[in-house]
Amino acid sequence: MEKQLHKLKMLLAEVVDLQRSASVLAWEQQTYMPAGGAAARADQLATLEGLAHRLFVTDEIGALLAGLNQAAEDWDYDSDESSLWRFISRRYERERRIPSDLVAELARTTALAQEAWVRARKAADYPMFKPHLQKVLSLRRQQAECLAPYDHIYDPLLDEYEPEMKTIEVRAMFAAIKDDLIELVSAISARADAVSDDALHGDFDIERQRAFGLEVAQKFGYDLERGRQDEAPHPFCTSFSSDDVRITTRFNGSFLPSALFGTMHEAGHALYEQGVAPELARTGLDTGISLGVHESQSRLWENLVGRSRPFWRHFFPQLQTAFPAALSAVDVESFYRAINRSKPSLIRVEADEVTYNLHIIIRFELELDLLTGTLQLDELPGAWNEKYKRYLGVCPENDAEGVLQDIHWSMGAIGYFATYSIGNLLSVQFLNRAREVLPNLDADISVGEFGPLLGWLRDNIHRHGSKFTPRELVQRVTGGEMDARAYMGYLREKYSDIYNL
Ligand code: ZN
Repeated sequence: MEKQLHKLKMLLAEVVDLQRSASVLAWEQQTYMPAGGAAARADQLATLEGLAHRLFVTDEIGALLAGLNQAAEDWDYDSDESSLWRFISRRYERERRIPSDLVAELARTTALAQEAWVRARKAADYPMFKPHLQKVLSLRRQQAECLAPYDHIYDPLLDEYEPEMKTIEVRAMFAAIKDDLIELVSAISARADAVSDDALHGDFDIERQRAFGLEVAQKFGYDLERGRQDEAPHPFCTSFSSDDVRITTRFNGSFLPSALFGTMHEAGHALYEQGVAPELARTGLDTGISLGVHESQSRLWENLVGRSRPFWRHFFPQLQTAFPAALSAVDVESFYRAINRSKPSLIRVEADEVTYNLHIIIRFELELDLLTGTLQLDELPGAWNEKYKRYLGVCPENDAEGVLQDIHWSMGAIGYFATYSIGNLLSVQFLNRAREVLPNLDADISVGEFGPLLGWLRDNIHRHGSKFTPRELVQRVTGGEMDARAYMGYLREKYSDIYNL
C-alpha cells in the first residue's frame, strides 16, 4: 500500500510539473512575449497541456487509485493521503472522459484567441474576435458534452472552477441578492451627490503607485522572495509552486484606484497560494481549492481590509506623502468615501462593491444563453448592452468598454464568472468568523498589523490547499453553508453609513 501511494505521488508530480510549466509559458505570454510569438506559443501550450492530460488519465493511475480504495477508507478523513485520494479520484473520473486531443486543441485555440482579444479590444472591434470566440465556445461545449449527463450544460463547466457547485445553486444565489442590489443601487443613485471621487483623478506617478502598492502587499504578508509583480493587460495571479507566486497589475497614471486595489486584490490571491502547506507540493492539492474560495481571499484583502476606515487610518498619511500634489488637501474621511463611491459603470474590474455583482449576473445570464444556443454570437454585443442598460442604467459606447472588456472568454473560461460573486459572499462570511476569534482585528489593522488576520486565514483556509471541497471548507470555517445574508448585511450597513440612507 505504501508502495502504491508512493508510485501514485511520483506520477502525479510529473503531471503537476508539466501543468505548472504550462503556467509559466501562459504567464510569460501575457507579460513579456512579443505579439509575434503567439502561434508558436499556442503549439507549445497545446503540447504541454495535452501531454499532462495524457499522463494523468492513464490506466496505471486508474489502477493505483482503485488499489488504494480500501486503504482510503481507513485513513483519517483529514489526513493528506485521504484528501489526495478523494481529490484525485474525482478529478480522474472527470478528466478520463475528456479526450487529450480536445484538451490540447483548447490550449492552442485559447492561446491564439488571447492574442486576438488583445488586438480586438484595442480596436474596439468585436467582429475581429468573434471567429475565435466561436471556436472557443464550440470546444467548451464539446468538453461539457463529454461529461454528460448533467442537469444543465453549464454544470460541468462551472464544476471545473467550483467543484460540486450546480447552476441551480448559482441561480438561487443571484435570486437572493439581485433585487436587493438593484434597490440599493437606486437608493444610492438618489443620493449620488453625497460622495465625490474627484480626489482619485489627477496625476499619479506610476513608479510611486508601484512602490506604494507593493509596500501594502508586503505588509499584508506577500513574500517577494517567493513572488514578483509584473504588468499585464488584465491583472491576474498565477502560482508555479507555493514558493513562486506571481502577480500582475495594470497602471493608470490619471486614476489612482486601478492599480492600488488591483494590487491588493492580486496579493490576496497570492497570499492563499503562498500559504499552502509545503507537504502538499507537487501532489495536485498544492493550490487553492476553487476560484470562489480564491476570490474570497482577494476580495477580503481588497475590499474588507483595503477599503475600510481602519486601514486608511494607518496608510493615508503615507499615501499623501507619495502624492502630495493630489492628496495633501484631502482628509482621510473624504478619501475613504471617495474609494467607496458607488456608481453604475461599464467596467467590471473597476466597479464598486454594490454594483459589482450586477456585472457578474449579466455575464452569467449571457453565458447560459450562449451555451444553450438561445443567444447567437452575432447578437452578443447587443444583448450585453441591453442588459447593462436594464440592470445598471449605463450603455457602452463601443465594444472595448462592453463585450470585449474581459479576457476570460478568450481563455476558454466560460463558467468562471459566477465564482466572483461566490467569492464576494464568502469573503464576508470568512471575515465575520475571523472577527469572532480576533476581537482586536480593527485595532490591529489601524496600526498596519495584519499578522493575526493572515495567521487565521493560513490556519483555517490557506494551508489546506485543495484538501477539502469548497462546501467542506466553508462548513469547517463558518459552521454553515454559503449564505447571501451576511454579505447583503455588510453592504447595507457600510453604504447606509456612507450615503446616509
Ligand atoms: Zn480575483
